Amino acid sequence: MRLILVGPPGAGKGTQAVHLAAHYGIPHISTGDIFRHNMKNETELGLLAKSYVDRGELVPDSVTNEMVKDRLSHADAQAGFLLDGFPRNVLQADVLRTVLAEAKTPLDAVLELSIDDAEIIARLSGRRTCRNCSASFHTIYEKPAVDGICDKCQGELYQREDDSEAVITRRLEVYAEQTKPIIAFYSAQGLLITIPAVGDVTEISSRAIAALSAAVVR
Ligand code: AMP
Repeated sequence: MRLILVGPPGAGKGTQAVHLAAHYGIPHISTGDIFRHNMKNETELGLLAKSYVDRGELVPDSVTNEMVKDRLSHADAQAGFLLDGFPRNVLQADVLRTVLAEAKTPLDAVLELSIDDAEIIARLSGRRTCRNCSASFHTIYEKPAVDGICDKCQGELYQREDDSEAVITRRLEVYAEQTKPIIAFYSAQGLLITIPAVGDVTEISSRAIAALSAAVVR
């Protein structure tokens, strides 16, 4: 299964990606997680990405495309993958299409999580992320057992710099201006599947798997 997950920030891509990747036995490749990992370790890539990520802007395509090409060349991605947060504009989508066409491994589907803006702001402003394993929690909807501590690895939970209200607003603008056009791009190729991203996490996962099973014949 070669799958892309698309949707605005706060649609729950990261959470759903974990479930879907486990269900299909494929690696979950999140460009946001790769950038944050590099930022935490202060690598050259991390230092470059930080100024963009903290402002809610996209990291330049040249950097992001190379990073994704490299990640897709790893052994674990040869039998399939789930891309979360990439592509984020039509140029990235085009580069991905070329790379996959050259490898004769076209996409199976693009799953869009659809949600309205008011719900996004409520979700993102309460989101807390584990510094250690990147798991996501929410101060109201998905509380950890112990405040500020990750249920999965006991790591420290923090509020992402780019989950502040001002940066959320900018991320939504960037999504509308730059990312939304990829929906039409994939729809024209007959790859797009859209599901409402409302309800609880397991309900959305079941909806996603049912929609993918109906659309993807393998
Ligand atoms: P995410 O965790 O997917 O919300 O991504 C967090 C931030 O990482 C984004 O706001 C961007 O600054 C950067 N980023 C993630 N994916 C991409 C991408 N495909 N292209 C450019 N920047 C990206």
